Amino acid sequence: LVQLFRPLDMLGMVYRTIRQGLIDMAEMFRLIDTPVEVADVPSAPALVIKRPTVVFDNVVFGYEPDRTILHGLSFEVPAGQDVAIVGPSGAGKSTIARLLFRFYDPWSGRILIDGQDIREVTQASLRCAIGIVPQDSVLFNDTIGYNIGYGRDGATIADIEKAARGAALSGLIDRLPKRFETEVGERGLKLSGGEKQRVAIARTLVKNPPILLLDEATSALDTRTEQDILATLHEVSENRTSLSIAHRLSTIADADRIFVLNEGKLAEAGTHNELLRADGLYAEMWNRQASEIEELGEAAE
Ligand code: ATP
Repeated sequence: LVQLFRPLDMLGMVYRTIRQGLIDMAEMFRLIDTPVEVADVPSAPALVIKRPTVVFDNVVFGYEPDRTILHGLSFEVPAGQDVAIVGPSGAGKSTIARLLFRFYDPWSGRILIDGQDIREVTQASLRCAIGIVPQDSVLFNDTIGYNIGYGRDGATIADIEKAARGAALSGLIDRLPKRFETEVGERGLKLSGGEKQRVAIARTLVKNPPILLLDEATSALDTRTEQDILATLHEVSENRTSLSIAHRLSTIADADRIFVLNEGKLAEAGTHNELLRADGLYAEMWNRQASEIEELGEAAE
């Protein structure tokens, strides 16, 4: 009987892996358009992280041979810091995230995590080290517990409960008669944009990665929800290195450091106040957004 079950067990595992792979891909859909094959080098070791620093060292990259997107980009994210990447649309912000996740390899230059070139380590260990809180989270038509726990194979109910607390989901779950067994998605409970994002945060907490990649994590939410989520993310990113790709500057003003990307190059870097004082591209973007918000406010009156 055991012999009969083993292959079934294996099948289950394969199914789960594929399903996880698909949903991870789906979550990355904004980050990746066309998956390109990158291969592990033979007998590549696993990435070993003691201090999660991220370095882009003179990275040149484009999707098509005749169009360079990143023109020798260099920056460093020190371990434990909260760094935001901003810049005009098309500047290459999401491209940075795709390269860090190694969906593509740079044409030249290197990307290092804790001193290790990400091309030299296994992709599995690389992706294990990076947690993504995407803009639009994809939920399974399954229980809320499953949706949180799939962040890591073998997550226990205690892990799931702890993650839900960390992502400020406990209040919602306490109101549900079937708690973590509540079905969500098309056939079950409909979650708001903010709640879905909290599920994504909880998933990331279950995964417990040393590096966080936040892709516009606070878009399409009302201001109150946005502030709540921001506070949660702030706690979650403590003791981790985090890289936020942001469009709305209001969400990243208190980042440790802001990198301003323009046409695939680092145009400016500094704190919010330093960049405002520098009166360059960031200050221009900030003033433009501030006046847009003001106009919106006036129109609403
Ligand atoms: P946004 O703020 O609008 O999301 P972004 O700064 O994140 O922009 P990227 O998504 O990194 O910009 O794209 C940078 C450039 O690369 C853009 O000009 C885009 O058209 C191009 N690009 C992105 N993905 C591909 C692709 N798969 N194939 C070809 N070109 C691409």
